[in-house]
Amino acid sequence: TPSPHKSQVDVLIVGAGPSGLMLALWMARLGIKTRFVDKRTDKVFSGQADGFQVRTMEILDSFGIGERVWKEANHMLEVSFWNPDENGRIQRNARAPDTLPDLSRFTECVLHQGRMETFFLDAIRASESPTHPAVRIDRCTMPTSLHVDEHLAEDDDAYPVEVTLRRRSEHEATPVQRLGNLGDGMHRSNLVEDDTGTVLERSAGQVEETVRAKYLVGCDGAHSWVRKTLGEGYEMPPKDAAPLITVLTLMLVTRGVLDIIPITDFPDIRNRCMVHSADSGTAMVIPRENRLVRLYIQLKEVSAGTGRVDRSTITPDVIFKAAQKILSPYSIQYHYIDWWTAYQIGQRSGNRFSKLDRVFLAGDAVHTHSPKAGQGMNTSMQDTYNLGWKLGLVCKRVLRRGVLATYELERRQIAKQLIEFDQRFSRLFTGRPAKDILDETGVSMKEFQEAFRTSQMVCPRCHWRSEEQRQLMMGQFTTGVGICYQPSMLVSTADDRPEGPTAGDHELLAANCKPGTRFASCKVLGQADPRPWELHHHMPSDGRFRIVVLGGDISRPAQLALVNDLGGWLSTALLPRCPRTALSPGSSPHGGGCGGRPKTARDPSVVDVLLVHAAPREAVELLTDLHDVYHPFDDKLGWDFDKTFADGPSYHEGHGRAHEAYRVDVDGAGAAVVVRPDGYIGLVASLGDEGRDKMARWFDAVLRTTP
Ligand code: FAD
Repeated sequence: TPSPHKSQVDVLIVGAGPSGLMLALWMARLGIKTRFVDKRTDKVFSGQADGFQVRTMEILDSFGIGERVWKEANHMLEVSFWNPDENGRIQRNARAPDTLPDLSRFTECVLHQGRMETFFLDAIRASESPTHPAVRIDRCTMPTSLHVDEHLAEDDDAYPVEVTLRRRSEHEATPVQRLGNLGDGMHRSNLVEDDTGTVLERSAGQVEETVRAKYLVGCDGAHSWVRKTLGEGYEMPPKDAAPLITVLTLMLVTRGVLDIIPITDFPDIRNRCMVHSADSGTAMVIPRENRLVRLYIQLKEVSAGTGRVDRSTITPDVIFKAAQKILSPYSIQYHYIDWWTAYQIGQRSGNRFSKLDRVFLAGDAVHTHSPKAGQGMNTSMQDTYNLGWKLGLVCKRVLRRGVLATYELERRQIAKQLIEFDQRFSRLFTGRPAKDILDETGVSMKEFQEAFRTSQMVCPRCHWRSEEQRQLMMGQFTTGVGICYQPSMLVSTADDRPEGPTAGDHELLAANCKPGTRFASCKVLGQADPRPWELHHHMPSDGRFRIVVLGGDISRPAQLALVNDLGGWLSTALLPRCPRTALSPGSSPHGGGCGGRPKTARDPSVVDVLLVHAAPREAVELLTDLHDVYHPFDDKLGWDFDKTFADGPSYHEGHGRAHEAYRVDVDGAGAAVVVRPDGYIGLVASLGDEGRDKMARWFDAVLRTTP
């Protein structure tokens, strides 16, 4: 046997699906030495996930990928609800906006997973530079053993994770398709047994390599080898751990998925539709790019009886015939089919997302649910969006290792909420429509529409106080915008303080900037030139924390003095203590797009300062009125004109009213919002001494600051 090859990396990622790609992009952007492996031969080319939530779009945009998705995707603007009338004929009962207006500058949109994977790979490649090593996927490669040296877990310099990797032949790594001429997703379906064991047996004797890593992340999907290898305590709970009603309603349901170009007289085929037929089951219609339409079809025939499914009986034809019945009396045919699959609904979430904060699980590896609510890929990418910057900045010695514990704290809560939401949504969507108000076992369409509507609202912890309203929380994150992380070293909140908010709390300073929620974008104008910008475009995912100073009306001399005083403190007290490091320049707000390289100062601080003021733009002279921290100087590049913005009317695009949106009093004393590298709010502080102390304490706890 040849002696095994050995290597050493900071981070080893297993699995190159959406969660693995998001993590790899962070690693590439932050310049972390990474190994990235996947057992398959290639990326997804058609089918699989297709729905992008608005928060996911914001995240992709922060990496410079958002525009590419937005341009190619089909934008879903309307949803209609179809139900049987008294004669059992389906009819349109209601229409609603697919995404609630004003949540974000994006709406939900759909594009197949393969395109998105291409955009990720391009962005990863574009991050390469002399300081940023290449991150490449080693395909046809899978782990065969894992050992974590627990004694070294807390040693920052150690490589306590040891993994053996094995190469497979391309032939072995290519998924078998059920029908020779048509791609399907059956090899990834939960109707098919996990093939990892067989694959490992077949590839015995192939070349092996030992990799030592500081951190390992299992992004290896629902059958996760990493999760299984971690063993006791990491199992997914059994299916019957869900509430009985949910298990009974859902376990017997099999769904087929078809991506086709339909020829039909069904009038809403280019809208998202929820169709409940009288007796033939339910369908969801998702209009896609390139005239494609995805149909999610309940397969009543194959679902009957014990719940055991003979998967060999499921073909595109069986799924299509079921679709024809549900949509009858409308006719539907097709000539072109792009992809198909079938699955059984199964919702489960693991309890532990990490071992010793050295091995992490993300995405489907630690939570699975039905695909219809379009949550899996989004939640999976958002898991590693949450983990990536923490892991990268710990490796770069910018963050304290303790920060890593917040990954499980923050993402486990989201997975639990997702399962609860999905159980409720799937039950409502799968149930037979109620015949009338006395029909207690049927699903009331009013209840279904209400569940859909409330599932998009913003976190009620931010705007509502009653328990009843809090209960609604469980479903209110389908857009991703309602996510609210709980208090931790990264989220400083005065929530639930019995005496109510005090002067330094966000409720009084910036009521719509709740710590734990994502910092929303508003249109602001450049101070140096009046170009309107989405503020998010100046907050790319580059690993930096941001202090956004919402300065109020600085044409008042006292307010200008306060803002400049804060500038003085930032530049002499806070910023010099924060690490300076070679972070990626991120995507260029000036149109560099994917991997574009704006010119930024060399080794800038890991804390970036932005000022948004509410004085008339013409009343402020950037270079002479404002402290240097709001227009930093670099010997080679001169003044940075992209740090100060006015909250005022633009020539062509209206008035963003940012202070109003963040609920900061224009005539008050302003507020400083500390935003984490993933765009979530860590802290809201006043601009004066009390707020400065708060900020200093917050950064001291999180960063490896110099005393
Ligand atoms: P996966 O996508 O499963 O990726 C895992 C990767 O790991 C794969 O590339 C695999 O080859 C690799 N791998 C597995 N085991 C190993 C191993 N032992 N060694 C090395 N590599 C390994 N979600 C949405 O958000 N929106 C949608 O609209 C949506 N629609 C869907 C439609 C369908 C029909 C289906 C089936 C799913 C849908 N989902 C949707 C869910 C979504 O596809 C998943 O939640 C998402 O792909 C999970 O991403 P992941 O990276 O965690 O895992």
